[in-house]
Amino acid sequence: MRGGSLAAVVLAFVGLSGSFAVGTRPVMAAEDSQTVAASGHKWAVVLHGGAGVIERKSMSAETDAAYRTALKRSIQAAADVLQKGGSSMDAVEAAIKLMEDDPLFNAGKGAVFTAEGKNELDSAVMDGSTMKAGAVAGVTRTRHPISLARTVMEKSPHVMLIGTGADQFAASAGLEQVDPSYFFTERRWQSLIRQLKKEGAPLPRRPASAPPAPAGGMAEIEPPDAHKYGTVGVVALDKNGNVAAGTSTGGTQAKRWGRVGDSPIIGAGTYASNQSCAVSATGTGEYFIRLTVARTICSLVQYKGMKLQAAVDEVVQKELGVIHGDGGVIAIAPDGQLAWSFNTPGMYRARIVEGGDVQVGIYGDEK
Ligand code: ASP
Repeated sequence: MRGGSLAAVVLAFVGLSGSFAVGTRPVMAAEDSQTVAASGHKWAVVLHGGAGVIERKSMSAETDAAYRTALKRSIQAAADVLQKGGSSMDAVEAAIKLMEDDPLFNAGKGAVFTAEGKNELDSAVMDGSTMKAGAVAGVTRTRHPISLARTVMEKSPHVMLIGTGADQFAASAGLEQVDPSYFFTERRWQSLIRQLKKEGAPLPRRPASAPPAPAGGMAEIEPPDAHKYGTVGVVALDKNGNVAAGTSTGGTQAKRWGRVGDSPIIGAGTYASNQSCAVSATGTGEYFIRLTVARTICSLVQYKGMKLQAAVDEVVQKELGVIHGDGGVIAIAPDGQLAWSFNTPGMYRARIVEGGDVQVGIYGDEK
């Protein structure tokens, strides 16, 4: 069979490069495209829950287990969508909504605070099959910023909305609105206060709507002032061979003056195109914006013909380091290559390919 032998060649070629080849999408003549659609592609998904100084020596067994459970649960939600034949965009949204609801991650509930003691949320999605995109920044009332980003893409003539206007649009589109105190978590609040004290900066008043401060302080879920992020992102490939990317974050702790990072900037923290790949990033956003990390990776694949793993390593291990940026990315290509790369000690991450098992990693020394 022509498709089969071409597929074998593609697999062999990708295998040599060290990338994770999981699907086959040989270039074929138009009359063969029906065959591809009928036989379908292997679906796959990769997810991150943030990168940073995440080290085994300073992580308790309970915290380690809690993150692994959360990562598995979220990637399973995406896998369930894809297994049923759902779109890569549906899979991205399903997994990110779960992580936005999980206080372990810096997205939705559990987002970090601004220096003024507020939660300002950023998110973006991009659909590789249409190259349509949607993004929001500085949202304070919409429970699932990822769904809002998708709604901007699908139901507005725009790509990016900010602040109260974005929340108003969300409400008008029927997306769940919450009091800003919904996003409050004690752990993030204490972390903000510690950072501001260290900087000698003024301390914001505890939000009136926040629950009363615990009398005896609270157990640390992670070492104080660990420089880690916790942004979440998903890239997926569906059975139709379409890729999509999504990212959601509270940004960086103690951010000021309406600061917006890379996550909602199309081409920086989030990008997807069926011509190349889908990418979601995490790290200090200022560097990722300056390097337009996500789009650069996809350009290396598209115009230089680089394998996906080589492209992500080129940008994360080389270019990012040159400007002293820190963080990581996950990526997926329409032919089934999966990749991740980070220059921090760890990155919460998981991946699964149709027919395989979920692989979860936290530290740099894991596969
Ligand atoms: N990249 C995000 C930002 O700069 C932060 C993160 O990845 O945690 O807003």
